[in-house]
Amino acid sequence: MDEKFDCIIVGAGVAGLSAAMMLARANMKFLLIEKGEFPGSKNVSGGVLWGNDLAKLVPNYWEEDAGWDRFINHRRLTFLDEESSFSIDFKSSHFNEAPYTGVVVLRSKFDRWLAEKVEEAIAESDFAMDSFIAPNILVEEILMEDGKAVGIRTGEEKFFADSIIIAEGVNNLLTRQVGLQDKYVPADHMLTGVKEIIRFDQNVLEDRFQLNGNSGMSNEFVGFATNGIEGGGFLYTNKDTISLGLVLGLKDLREKEQAPYDVLNHFKKHPVIADMIRGGEVVEYSAHIVSSGDKRVMPEKLYKAGLVICGEAANLLMNAGKAIQGMDYAMRSGILAAEAITKAKEKGDFGEEAMKAYQTALEDSYIMKDINNFQDAVHLLHDPVMTQKVPNLICDFGRNFFSINNEPTPKSRTMLRGAIKRHASYWELFKLGIKGGKAL
Ligand SMILES: Cc1cc2nc3c(=O)[nH]c(=O)nc-3n(C[C@H](O)[C@H](O)[C@H](O)COP(=O)(O)OP(=O)(O)OC[C@H]3O[C@@H](n4cnc5c(N)ncnc54)[C@H](O)[C@@H]3O)c2cc1C
Repeated sequence: MDEKFDCIIVGAGVAGLSAAMMLARANMKFLLIEKGEFPGSKNVSGGVLWGNDLAKLVPNYWEEDAGWDRFINHRRLTFLDEESSFSIDFKSSHFNEAPYTGVVVLRSKFDRWLAEKVEEAIAESDFAMDSFIAPNILVEEILMEDGKAVGIRTGEEKFFADSIIIAEGVNNLLTRQVGLQDKYVPADHMLTGVKEIIRFDQNVLEDRFQLNGNSGMSNEFVGFATNGIEGGGFLYTNKDTISLGLVLGLKDLREKEQAPYDVLNHFKKHPVIADMIRGGEVVEYSAHIVSSGDKRVMPEKLYKAGLVICGEAANLLMNAGKAIQGMDYAMRSGILAAEAITKAKEKGDFGEEAMKAYQTALEDSYIMKDINNFQDAVHLLHDPVMTQKVPNLICDFGRNFFSINNEPTPKSRTMLRGAIKRHASYWELFKLGIKGGKAL
Protein backbone atom coordinates (compact mmCIF):
# COMPACT_ATOMS: atom_id res chain seq x y z
CA MET A 1 0.00 0.00 0.00
CA ASP A 2 1.64 3.29 -1.12
CA GLU A 3 -0.86 5.53 0.60
CA LYS A 4 0.29 7.55 3.52
CA PHE A 5 -1.84 7.81 6.66
CA ASP A 6 -2.15 10.80 8.96
CA CYS A 7 -1.43 8.44 11.82
CA ILE A 8 -0.58 4.80 12.55
CA ILE A 9 -1.52 3.56 16.01
CA VAL A 10 0.24 0.47 17.35
CA GLY A 11 -1.92 -1.57 19.74
CA ALA A 12 -5.71 -1.80 20.03
CA GLY A 13 -5.89 -1.82 23.82
CA VAL A 14 -7.70 0.90 25.75
CA ALA A 15 -5.12 3.57 24.83
CA GLY A 16 -5.00 2.74 21.12
CA LEU A 17 -8.76 2.41 20.71
CA SER A 18 -9.37 5.70 22.56
CA ALA A 19 -6.89 7.48 20.30
CA ALA A 20 -8.53 5.87 17.25
CA MET A 21 -11.99 7.03 18.30
CA MET A 22 -10.78 10.63 18.63
CA LEU A 23 -8.97 10.50 15.28
CA ALA A 24 -12.05 9.10 13.51
CA ARG A 25 -14.18 11.88 14.99
CA ALA A 26 -11.60 14.46 13.88
CA ASN A 27 -11.75 13.14 10.29
CA MET A 28 -8.23 11.82 10.27
CA LYS A 29 -7.02 9.00 8.07
CA PHE A 30 -5.45 6.34 10.25
CA LEU A 31 -4.43 2.72 10.59
CA LEU A 32 -4.79 0.96 13.95
CA ILE A 33 -2.69 -2.21 14.11
CA GLU A 34 -3.22 -4.97 16.67
CA LYS A 35 -1.15 -8.13 17.00
CA GLY A 36 -4.00 -10.14 18.57
CA GLU A 37 -6.66 -11.99 16.63
CA PHE A 38 -9.10 -9.25 17.64
CA PRO A 39 -8.86 -6.20 19.95
CA GLY A 40 -8.92 -7.51 23.51
CA SER A 41 -7.79 -11.04 22.69
CA LYS A 42 -4.38 -10.41 24.30
CA ASN A 43 -5.53 -8.25 27.17
CA VAL A 44 -5.97 -8.98 30.85
CA SER A 45 -7.38 -6.65 33.40
CA GLY A 46 -9.00 -7.02 36.81
CA GLY A 47 -10.74 -4.74 35.95
CA VAL A 48 -12.56 -1.58 36.82
CA LEU A 49 -12.41 1.24 34.32
CA TRP A 50 -12.47 4.20 36.70
CA GLY A 51 -13.79 7.67 35.98
CA ASN A 52 -16.06 8.82 33.20
CA ASP A 53 -13.89 9.40 30.13
CA LEU A 54 -15.73 6.52 28.47
CA ALA A 55 -18.74 8.83 28.23
CA LYS A 56 -16.61 11.20 26.13
CA LEU A 57 -15.84 8.43 23.67
CA VAL A 58 -19.23 6.73 23.61
CA PRO A 59 -21.86 9.19 24.85
CA ASN A 60 -24.61 7.45 26.83
CA TYR A 61 -22.66 4.19 26.76
CA TRP A 62 -24.70 3.05 29.77
CA GLU A 63 -27.77 2.74 27.56
CA GLU A 64 -26.14 -0.26 25.91
CA ASP A 65 -24.78 -3.04 28.05
CA ALA A 66 -22.60 -4.66 25.43
CA GLY A 67 -19.19 -3.50 26.58
CA TRP A 68 -19.33 -3.28 30.34
CA ASP A 69 -20.65 -5.56 33.05
CA ARG A 70 -21.60 -3.58 36.15
CA PHE A 71 -21.20 -0.10 37.62
CA ILE A 72 -19.45 0.20 40.97
CA ASN A 73 -21.42 1.49 43.95
CA HIS A 74 -19.81 -0.68 46.60
CA ARG A 75 -16.11 -0.46 47.54
CA ARG A 76 -14.29 -2.51 50.12
CA LEU A 77 -10.70 -2.66 51.35
CA THR A 78 -10.01 -5.82 53.35
CA PHE A 79 -7.08 -6.68 55.63
CA LEU A 80 -6.51 -10.42 56.01
CA ASP A 81 -4.60 -12.59 58.43
CA GLU A 82 -4.74 -16.39 58.38
CA GLU A 83 -8.25 -16.72 59.80
CA SER A 84 -9.88 -13.29 59.79
CA SER A 85 -10.77 -10.30 57.66
CA PHE A 86 -11.21 -6.66 58.71
CA SER A 87 -12.77 -4.39 56.10
CA ILE A 88 -13.37 -0.75 55.39
CA ASP A 89 -16.64 -0.88 53.51
CA PHE A 90 -18.38 1.89 51.59
CA LYS A 91 -21.59 1.57 49.63
CA SER A 92 -23.65 4.46 48.31
CA SER A 93 -26.63 4.91 46.01
CA HIS A 94 -24.94 8.23 45.23
CA PHE A 95 -22.80 6.16 42.85
CA ASN A 96 -25.84 4.76 41.03
CA GLU A 97 -26.08 7.67 38.61
CA ALA A 98 -24.53 7.58 35.13
CA PRO A 99 -21.85 8.46 34.16
CA TYR A 100 -20.60 6.19 36.89
CA THR A 101 -17.48 6.46 39.05
CA GLY A 102 -16.32 3.16 37.55
CA VAL A 103 -17.55 0.23 35.48
CA VAL A 104 -16.36 -3.37 35.62
CA VAL A 105 -15.15 -4.66 32.28
CA LEU A 106 -13.88 -7.93 30.87
CA ARG A 107 -11.29 -6.89 28.35
CA SER A 108 -11.90 -9.41 25.57
CA LYS A 109 -15.51 -8.23 25.50
CA PHE A 110 -14.91 -4.53 26.24
CA ASP A 111 -12.06 -3.93 23.76
CA ARG A 112 -14.00 -5.72 21.04
CA TRP A 113 -17.07 -3.59 21.71
CA LEU A 114 -15.03 -0.36 21.76
CA ALA A 115 -13.43 -1.42 18.46
CA GLU A 116 -16.93 -1.79 16.97
CA LYS A 117 -17.72 1.75 18.15
CA VAL A 118 -14.51 2.97 16.47
CA GLU A 119 -15.58 1.19 13.27
CA GLU A 120 -18.92 3.06 13.46
CA ALA A 121 -17.06 6.38 13.89
CA ILE A 122 -14.80 5.52 10.92
CA ALA A 123 -17.90 4.79 8.81
CA GLU A 124 -19.22 8.27 9.59
CA SER A 125 -15.91 10.00 8.87
CA ASP A 126 -14.54 11.31 5.56
CA PHE A 127 -12.22 8.31 5.46
CA ALA A 128 -14.82 5.57 5.72
CA MET A 129 -12.91 3.58 3.07
CA ASP A 130 -9.38 4.68 4.01
CA SER A 131 -9.06 4.28 7.79
CA PHE A 132 -8.70 0.75 9.17
CA ILE A 133 -8.45 -1.43 12.23
CA ALA A 134 -6.07 -4.21 11.24
CA PRO A 135 -5.83 -7.21 13.63
CA ASN A 136 -3.39 -10.14 13.53
CA ILE A 137 -0.41 -7.98 12.58
CA LEU A 138 2.70 -7.61 14.70
CA VAL A 139 4.53 -4.31 14.31
CA GLU A 140 8.21 -5.22 14.41
CA GLU A 141 9.82 -1.85 13.87
CA ILE A 142 9.14 1.87 13.92
CA LEU A 143 10.73 3.36 10.83
CA MET A 144 12.76 6.52 11.50
CA GLU A 145 14.24 8.98 9.02
CA ASP A 146 16.48 11.84 10.18
CA GLY A 147 15.18 11.47 13.76
CA LYS A 148 11.52 11.52 12.70
CA ALA A 149 9.12 8.57 12.83
CA VAL A 150 7.79 7.95 9.33
CA GLY A 151 6.12 4.55 9.46
CA ILE A 152 6.17 0.97 10.68
CA ARG A 153 7.44 -2.37 9.44
CA THR A 154 5.69 -5.69 9.79
CA GLY A 155 7.57 -8.57 8.21
CA GLU A 156 8.49 -7.41 4.72
CA GLU A 157 5.72 -4.82 4.56
CA LYS A 158 6.06 -1.15 5.39
CA PHE A 159 3.32 1.39 6.05
CA PHE A 160 3.92 5.14 6.21
CA ALA A 161 2.29 7.97 8.15
CA ASP A 162 2.90 11.55 9.29
CA SER A 163 2.66 10.39 12.89
CA ILE A 164 2.80 7.25 15.03
CA ILE A 165 1.08 6.59 18.36
CA ILE A 166 2.76 3.76 20.27
CA ALA A 167 0.08 2.20 22.50
CA GLU A 168 1.67 -1.23 22.84
CA GLY A 169 1.10 -1.72 26.57
CA VAL A 170 3.50 -2.60 29.37
CA ASN A 171 5.81 -4.84 27.34
CA ASN A 172 7.10 -1.77 25.52
CA LEU A 173 9.58 -3.18 23.02
CA LEU A 174 8.95 -0.49 20.36
CA THR A 175 9.28 2.27 22.97
CA ARG A 176 12.71 0.80 23.71
CA GLN A 177 13.52 0.43 20.03
CA VAL A 178 13.01 4.17 19.43
CA GLY A 179 15.20 4.90 22.47
CA LEU A 180 12.57 6.44 24.76
CA GLN A 181 12.69 3.73 27.45
CA ASP A 182 16.44 3.80 27.56
CA LYS A 183 17.08 2.43 31.04
CA TYR A 184 16.67 -1.21 32.00
CA VAL A 185 13.52 -1.64 34.11
CA PRO A 186 14.41 -3.87 37.06
CA ALA A 187 12.06 -6.64 38.19
CA ASP A 188 11.24 -4.83 41.43
CA HIS A 189 9.36 -2.25 39.37
CA MET A 190 7.15 -4.84 37.73
CA LEU A 191 4.38 -7.07 39.03
CA THR A 192 2.65 -10.04 37.57
CA GLY A 193 -1.12 -10.13 37.64
CA VAL A 194 -2.90 -13.48 37.86
CA LYS A 195 -6.63 -13.76 37.62
CA GLU A 196 -9.39 -16.32 37.54
CA ILE A 197 -12.87 -15.74 36.24
CA ILE A 198 -15.31 -17.74 38.35
CA ARG A 199 -18.86 -18.30 37.15
CA PHE A 200 -22.01 -18.47 39.32
CA ASP A 201 -25.69 -18.66 38.75
CA GLN A 202 -26.48 -14.93 38.36
CA ASN A 203 -29.03 -14.95 41.21
CA VAL A 204 -26.51 -16.58 43.54
CA LEU A 205 -23.91 -13.96 42.62
CA GLU A 206 -26.36 -11.09 43.13
CA ASP A 207 -27.56 -12.41 46.50
CA ARG A 208 -24.07 -13.20 47.74
CA PHE A 209 -22.63 -9.79 46.91
CA GLN A 210 -25.85 -7.76 47.50
CA LEU A 211 -26.03 -6.58 43.90
CA ASN A 212 -29.09 -4.89 42.52
CA GLY A 213 -29.72 -4.61 38.77
CA ASN A 214 -26.39 -3.60 37.21
CA SER A 215 -24.73 -2.54 40.46
CA GLY A 216 -21.35 -4.07 41.30
CA MET A 217 -18.64 -4.31 43.92
CA SER A 218 -14.89 -3.93 43.99
CA ASN A 219 -12.91 -5.44 46.85
CA GLU A 220 -9.14 -5.01 47.35
CA PHE A 221 -7.19 -7.23 49.77
CA VAL A 222 -3.96 -6.70 51.72
CA GLY A 223 -2.10 -9.22 53.89
CA PHE A 224 -2.48 -13.02 53.91
CA ALA A 225 -3.73 -12.96 50.29
CA THR A 226 -0.21 -12.80 48.86
CA ASN A 227 1.47 -15.35 51.17
CA GLY A 228 4.27 -12.97 52.13
CA ILE A 229 4.86 -11.69 48.58
CA GLU A 230 4.73 -7.96 47.95
CA GLY A 231 1.39 -7.07 46.31
CA GLY A 232 -2.33 -7.38 46.91
CA GLY A 233 -5.54 -9.06 45.85
CA PHE A 234 -8.76 -8.04 44.13
CA LEU A 235 -12.29 -9.25 43.54
CA TYR A 236 -14.67 -7.58 41.08
CA THR A 237 -18.21 -8.64 40.30
CA ASN A 238 -19.08 -9.08 36.63
CA LYS A 239 -22.53 -9.91 35.24
CA ASP A 240 -22.55 -13.59 36.25
CA THR A 241 -18.90 -14.11 37.12
CA ILE A 242 -16.32 -12.65 39.45
CA SER A 243 -12.73 -11.68 38.64
CA LEU A 244 -10.54 -12.87 41.50
CA GLY A 245 -6.82 -12.27 41.37
CA LEU A 246 -3.54 -10.98 42.68
CA VAL A 247 -0.81 -8.61 41.62
CA LEU A 248 2.56 -9.89 42.86
CA GLY A 249 6.05 -8.36 42.86
CA LEU A 250 8.20 -10.21 40.31
CA LYS A 251 11.42 -9.81 42.26
CA ASP A 252 9.82 -11.03 45.47
CA LEU A 253 8.29 -14.06 43.72
CA ARG A 254 11.69 -14.99 42.36
CA GLU A 255 13.53 -14.44 45.62
CA LYS A 256 10.99 -16.40 47.65
CA GLU A 257 10.73 -19.08 44.94
CA GLN A 258 6.96 -19.01 44.70
CA ALA A 259 4.80 -19.50 41.61
CA PRO A 260 1.94 -17.03 41.05
CA TYR A 261 -0.73 -19.74 40.70
CA ASP A 262 0.37 -21.33 44.02
CA VAL A 263 -0.09 -17.95 45.71
CA LEU A 264 -3.52 -17.61 44.08
CA ASN A 265 -4.54 -21.05 45.38
CA HIS A 266 -3.34 -20.03 48.83
CA PHE A 267 -5.53 -16.89 48.60
CA LYS A 268 -8.56 -18.95 47.56
CA LYS A 269 -8.17 -21.19 50.61
CA HIS A 270 -8.61 -18.32 53.07
CA PRO A 271 -11.91 -19.05 54.89
CA VAL A 272 -13.40 -15.65 53.99
CA ILE A 273 -12.50 -16.03 50.29
CA ALA A 274 -13.59 -19.69 50.28
CA ASP A 275 -17.04 -18.52 51.46
CA MET A 276 -17.19 -15.93 48.68
CA ILE A 277 -16.32 -18.35 45.86
CA ARG A 278 -18.21 -21.42 47.12
CA GLY A 279 -20.09 -23.19 44.32
CA GLY A 280 -18.41 -21.14 41.57
CA GLU A 281 -16.76 -22.69 38.51
CA VAL A 282 -13.41 -21.41 37.24
CA VAL A 283 -13.96 -20.65 33.54
CA GLU A 284 -10.81 -18.71 32.68
CA TYR A 285 -7.28 -18.23 33.98
CA SER A 286 -4.97 -15.48 32.77
CA ALA A 287 -1.74 -13.73 33.66
CA HIS A 288 -0.14 -10.47 32.54
CA ILE A 289 2.68 -8.17 33.61
CA VAL A 290 1.62 -4.87 35.17
CA SER A 291 3.63 -1.76 36.09
CA SER A 292 4.18 -0.96 39.76
CA GLY A 293 3.22 2.70 39.30
CA ASP A 294 6.69 3.82 40.33
CA LYS A 295 7.43 7.03 38.44
CA ARG A 296 11.13 6.19 38.28
CA VAL A 297 10.46 3.71 35.48
CA MET A 298 8.44 6.12 33.35
CA PRO A 299 10.30 7.27 30.26
CA GLU A 300 11.23 10.91 30.84
CA LYS A 301 10.32 11.86 27.32
CA LEU A 302 7.16 10.51 25.70
CA TYR A 303 7.62 11.95 22.22
CA LYS A 304 9.92 12.34 19.28
CA ALA A 305 9.32 14.09 15.97
CA GLY A 306 6.26 12.33 14.50
CA LEU A 307 5.73 10.03 17.47
CA VAL A 308 4.09 9.83 20.92
CA ILE A 309 3.83 7.05 23.53
CA CYS A 310 0.67 6.53 25.57
CA GLY A 311 -0.99 4.15 28.03
CA GLU A 312 1.02 1.56 29.90
CA ALA A 313 3.73 1.64 27.22
CA ALA A 314 4.63 4.90 28.98
CA ASN A 315 4.23 3.12 32.36
CA LEU A 316 1.20 5.27 33.11
CA LEU A 317 -0.36 3.41 36.02
CA MET A 318 -1.09 4.02 39.65
CA ASN A 319 -1.83 1.68 42.50
CA ALA A 320 -1.77 3.75 45.65
CA GLY A 321 -4.01 1.45 47.67
CA LYS A 322 -7.41 2.80 46.64
CA ALA A 323 -7.54 1.16 43.21
CA ILE A 324 -5.44 0.07 40.26
CA GLN A 325 -5.68 2.86 37.70
CA GLY A 326 -4.27 1.80 34.37
CA MET A 327 -7.20 1.69 31.97
CA ASP A 328 -8.45 5.21 32.74
CA TYR A 329 -4.88 6.51 32.33
CA ALA A 330 -4.65 4.62 29.04
CA MET A 331 -7.95 6.12 27.89
CA ARG A 332 -7.12 9.72 28.80
CA SER A 333 -3.57 9.53 27.42
CA GLY A 334 -4.93 8.05 24.16
CA ILE A 335 -7.38 10.96 23.92
CA LEU A 336 -4.61 13.51 24.58
CA ALA A 337 -2.30 11.85 22.04
CA ALA A 338 -5.00 12.03 19.36
CA GLU A 339 -5.74 15.67 20.19
CA ALA A 340 -2.05 16.63 19.84
CA ILE A 341 -1.83 14.82 16.51
CA THR A 342 -5.02 16.41 15.21
CA LYS A 343 -3.61 19.86 16.06
CA ALA A 344 -0.33 18.94 14.37
CA LYS A 345 -2.24 18.00 11.23
CA GLU A 346 -4.13 21.32 11.28
CA LYS A 347 -0.79 23.16 11.43
CA GLY A 348 0.88 20.79 8.98
CA ASP A 349 3.72 20.31 11.45
CA PHE A 350 4.46 16.94 13.07
CA GLY A 351 7.85 18.00 14.41
CA GLU A 352 9.18 17.45 17.90
CA GLU A 353 7.63 20.66 19.33
CA ALA A 354 4.17 19.67 18.04
CA MET A 355 4.49 16.24 19.66
CA LYS A 356 5.73 17.79 22.90
CA ALA A 357 2.25 19.33 23.25
CA TYR A 358 1.04 15.81 24.12
CA GLN A 359 3.39 15.49 27.08
CA THR A 360 2.53 19.03 28.23
CA ALA A 361 -1.18 18.13 28.15
CA LEU A 362 -0.43 14.94 30.07
CA GLU A 363 1.50 16.89 32.73
CA ASP A 364 -1.49 19.24 33.09
CA SER A 365 -3.96 16.36 33.36
CA TYR A 366 -5.06 14.47 36.46
CA ILE A 367 -2.80 11.58 35.42
CA MET A 368 0.58 13.22 36.04
CA LYS A 369 -0.78 15.32 38.88
CA ASP A 370 -1.88 12.14 40.68
CA ILE A 371 1.24 10.16 39.75
CA ASN A 372 3.40 12.98 41.16
CA ASN A 373 1.24 13.58 44.24
CA PHE A 374 0.86 9.96 45.32
CA GLN A 375 4.32 8.48 44.73
CA ASP A 376 4.82 8.12 48.49
CA ALA A 377 1.62 6.09 48.71
CA VAL A 378 2.82 3.84 45.88
CA HIS A 379 6.05 3.19 47.82
CA LEU A 380 4.14 2.66 51.06
CA LEU A 381 2.29 -0.23 49.44
CA HIS A 382 5.62 -1.94 48.87
CA ASP A 383 6.60 -1.64 52.54
CA PRO A 384 6.39 -5.11 54.21
CA VAL A 385 5.26 -3.50 57.48
CA MET A 386 2.23 -2.13 55.64
CA THR A 387 1.47 -5.23 53.61
CA GLN A 388 2.19 -7.93 56.20
CA LYS A 389 2.42 -6.67 59.78
CA VAL A 390 -0.39 -4.09 59.69
CA PRO A 391 -3.03 -6.55 58.37
CA ASN A 392 -2.07 -9.07 61.10
CA LEU A 393 -2.23 -6.36 63.73
CA ILE A 394 -5.60 -5.04 62.53
CA CYS A 395 -7.15 -8.53 62.40
CA ASP A 396 -5.75 -9.38 65.86
CA PHE A 397 -7.32 -6.20 67.24
CA GLY A 398 -10.61 -7.00 65.47
CA ARG A 399 -10.70 -10.49 66.95
CA ASN A 400 -10.39 -9.06 70.47
CA PHE A 401 -12.66 -6.08 69.90
CA PHE A 402 -15.52 -8.17 68.52
CA SER A 403 -15.17 -11.04 71.06
CA ILE A 404 -17.61 -11.21 73.96
CA ASN A 405 -16.63 -13.93 76.37
CA ASN A 406 -18.26 -13.21 79.74
CA GLU A 407 -15.03 -11.79 81.16
CA PRO A 408 -14.36 -8.13 82.01
CA THR A 409 -13.75 -6.25 78.71
CA PRO A 410 -10.44 -4.39 78.42
CA LYS A 411 -10.45 -0.85 77.02
CA SER A 412 -9.92 -0.71 73.25
CA ARG A 413 -6.57 1.05 73.66
CA THR A 414 -5.34 -1.85 75.81
CA MET A 415 -6.42 -4.27 73.08
CA LEU A 416 -4.65 -2.16 70.48
CA ARG A 417 -1.43 -2.01 72.53
CA GLY A 418 -1.54 -5.81 72.86
CA ALA A 419 -2.04 -6.27 69.12
CA ILE A 420 0.83 -3.90 68.33
CA LYS A 421 3.12 -5.75 70.73
CA ARG A 422 2.31 -9.09 69.12
CA HIS A 423 2.87 -7.99 65.51
CA ALA A 424 5.08 -4.92 65.17
CA SER A 425 7.17 -2.45 67.13
CA TYR A 426 6.13 1.11 68.00
CA TRP A 427 9.21 2.28 66.10
CA GLU A 428 8.06 0.49 62.89
CA LEU A 429 4.60 1.96 63.24
CA PHE A 430 6.01 5.41 63.98
CA LYS A 431 8.06 5.30 60.76
CA LEU A 432 5.04 4.01 58.85
CA GLY A 433 2.92 6.82 60.31
CA ILE A 434 5.41 9.42 59.08
CA LYS A 435 5.43 7.84 55.60
CA GLY A 436 1.62 7.53 55.65
CA GLY A 437 1.25 11.17 56.66
CA LYS A 438 3.41 12.23 53.71
CA ALA A 439 1.66 9.82 51.35
CA LEU A 440 -1.86 11.01 51.98
C1 LIG B 1 -4.31 -8.55 36.68
C2 LIG B 1 -4.47 -7.10 36.29
C3 LIG B 1 -5.49 -6.35 36.87
C4 LIG B 1 -5.65 -5.02 36.50
N1 LIG B 1 -6.71 -4.34 37.03
C5 LIG B 1 -6.96 -3.09 36.60
C6 LIG B 1 -8.11 -2.40 37.06
O1 LIG B 1 -8.93 -2.93 37.82
N2 LIG B 1 -8.32 -1.13 36.62
C7 LIG B 1 -7.45 -0.52 35.75
O2 LIG B 1 -7.69 0.63 35.37
N3 LIG B 1 -6.34 -1.16 35.30
C8 LIG B 1 -6.09 -2.43 35.70
N4 LIG B 1 -4.98 -3.08 35.23
C9 LIG B 1 -4.04 -2.36 34.34
C10 LIG B 1 -4.61 -2.22 32.93
O3 LIG B 1 -4.99 -3.47 32.43
C11 LIG B 1 -3.57 -1.60 31.99
O4 LIG B 1 -2.98 -0.48 32.58
C12 LIG B 1 -4.22 -1.20 30.67
O5 LIG B 1 -4.69 -2.34 30.00
C13 LIG B 1 -3.22 -0.47 29.76
O6 LIG B 1 -3.85 -0.20 28.54
P1 LIG B 1 -2.99 0.00 27.22
O7 LIG B 1 -3.95 0.27 26.14
O8 LIG B 1 -1.91 0.97 27.47
O9 LIG B 1 -2.26 -1.39 27.00
P2 LIG B 1 -2.90 -2.83 26.70
O10 LIG B 1 -4.27 -2.92 27.22
O11 LIG B 1 -1.89 -3.81 27.17
O12 LIG B 1 -2.99 -2.87 25.12
C14 LIG B 1 -1.83 -2.93 24.31
C15 LIG B 1 -2.24 -3.58 22.99
O13 LIG B 1 -1.15 -3.48 22.07
C16 LIG B 1 -1.03 -4.71 21.38
N5 LIG B 1 0.38 -4.77 20.92
C17 LIG B 1 1.48 -4.77 21.70
N6 LIG B 1 2.58 -4.76 20.95
C18 LIG B 1 2.17 -4.76 19.65
C19 LIG B 1 2.86 -4.77 18.42
N7 LIG B 1 4.19 -4.75 18.36
N8 LIG B 1 2.13 -4.81 17.27
C20 LIG B 1 0.78 -4.81 17.33
N9 LIG B 1 0.07 -4.80 18.48
C21 LIG B 1 0.76 -4.77 19.63
C22 LIG B 1 -1.40 -5.76 22.43
O14 LIG B 1 -1.79 -6.99 21.83
C23 LIG B 1 -2.55 -5.06 23.14
O15 LIG B 1 -3.78 -5.33 22.54
C24 LIG B 1 -4.78 -4.42 35.56
C25 LIG B 1 -3.74 -5.18 34.98
C26 LIG B 1 -3.60 -6.51 35.33
C27 LIG B 1 -2.51 -7.31 34.67
